[in-house]
Amino acid sequence: MRLNVIGSSPAWPNPGSAHSGYMLEADGSRVLLDCGPGVLGRLRETAMWPEVDAIAITHFHLDHWGDLVPWVWGTFYLASNGPVAKPALWVQPGGGAFLTALGERLGFPDMFERTFHLSEYEPDVPFQIGKLAVTATRVPHYKLETYAFRVQSNGAVLAYSGDSAPSRELVEAARDADLFVCEATLLRGELDGEPRGHLSLDEAVEAFEASGAKRLLVTHRPRELPTPDEYELAYDGLELEV
Ligand SMILES: [Zn+2]
Repeated sequence: MRLNVIGSSPAWPNPGSAHSGYMLEADGSRVLLDCGPGVLGRLRETAMWPEVDAIAITHFHLDHWGDLVPWVWGTFYLASNGPVAKPALWVQPGGGAFLTALGERLGFPDMFERTFHLSEYEPDVPFQIGKLAVTATRVPHYKLETYAFRVQSNGAVLAYSGDSAPSRELVEAARDADLFVCEATLLRGELDGEPRGHLSLDEAVEAFEASGAKRLLVTHRPRELPTPDEYELAYDGLELEV
């Protein structure tokens, strides 16, 4: 399984960087975890239009899904010249109705359904994208319904925190993973809101150590915050074998 970090920014962009977007590829199957602003443009640096089997969204904060909107407009434009591939789009329970309501405001009620094969995942029930099995686990993130992803292929496991407060659920989602891609948005946990929504770097390391995962990749980290060299920090364009 290969990871390509497309975008690694927190809720505001690091200089020159896209928001959340992580491409995973195994045996010719490709899934994009989250699709924040800037991700589509980055994907178009290597292909006129992205070739993905599926996109899976952790939650509906804009920095994790915003580029689904221009994905629609680009697909509509390209469709005037011939058929365009329709990727699967996996969203949380109730996500289909959420996207229809958004479509009513942003363009057409069915704009997302016309662009993607829409499906809603069930918590803790794996769904299959070619050779990749994805499991979504609910994690605490302020008061917004949010999921972490665990992706398995050919015996390799990648865990992705999405956005999460410190929690047992997050630790279990990353249990014994080969690679744990974990957010570290905060300088200190005490600076978070109530209920908690994000991790400091220390809390990300604590979750990593408690999980037994083999390798930690820190992401969603503001450029404004220090990250000691001993930690592996995600950047747009980073490619890793899992
Ligand atoms: Zn969020």
